[in-house]
Amino acid sequence: MLLDNNGNIQLNNLIKYPDNDYQALREKAIKCTRCHLHETCQQVVMGKGTINNRIMFVGEGPGAEEDRKGIPFVGRAGILLDKILNAVEITRDDIYITNIVKCRPPGNRAPTIKEAKACSPILQAEIKLINPKVIIPLGSTALKYLIDQNMSITKMRGKWIKRGNIFILPTFHPAYLLRNSNMKKVVWRDFKLIKKSLLRIEELKQQG
Ligand code: SF4
Repeated sequence: MLLDNNGNIQLNNLIKYPDNDYQALREKAIKCTRCHLHETCQQVVMGKGTINNRIMFVGEGPGAEEDRKGIPFVGRAGILLDKILNAVEITRDDIYITNIVKCRPPGNRAPTIKEAKACSPILQAEIKLINPKVIIPLGSTALKYLIDQNMSITKMRGKWIKRGNIFILPTFHPAYLLRNSNMKKVVWRDFKLIKKSLLRIEELKQQG
């Protein structure tokens, strides 16, 4: 939905966020009151991580712990994500991680299309800033809002999708894995592919 077949961002938003300076983007984003989610959340949880490695993980929205701390993926799901990343020798410092919406939806429900669209200028600026070679949508919501409303995470998990020069590998959200531990095995395979792609990115960086 956000990325067209050529890997271009489709939305033409009236609101523009700085897309060449993370600090400037963050400063503007954390003051956002563009949708009603700001009325019930404690703070805007901006994406975080390394922008130079050009690999982005995109989840759904902040949970309770993220809302309290203002950092993405620090609750139970985030701790599990760190464990999986560590198992393939990737750290948070190697990646950039963000969410479709930056404010916690009440009761951890999935964000609505309206909320995702309201928040999309921030995600759009993050994508422009990072210029990713690889995007990992974590779970159904991220897959649908980024790529195609009709895609099923169960069918698309572990399959590379190409949009322009961007390679996209959807996988299950770690919160789903907390409830379905039998799926950890297939996700492990996805993360080995992610590790390979990160090594390839590093190789290309060294070649200039
Ligand atoms: Fe702004 Fe996004 Fe928070 Fe809505 S969810 S208030 S659009 S930062």
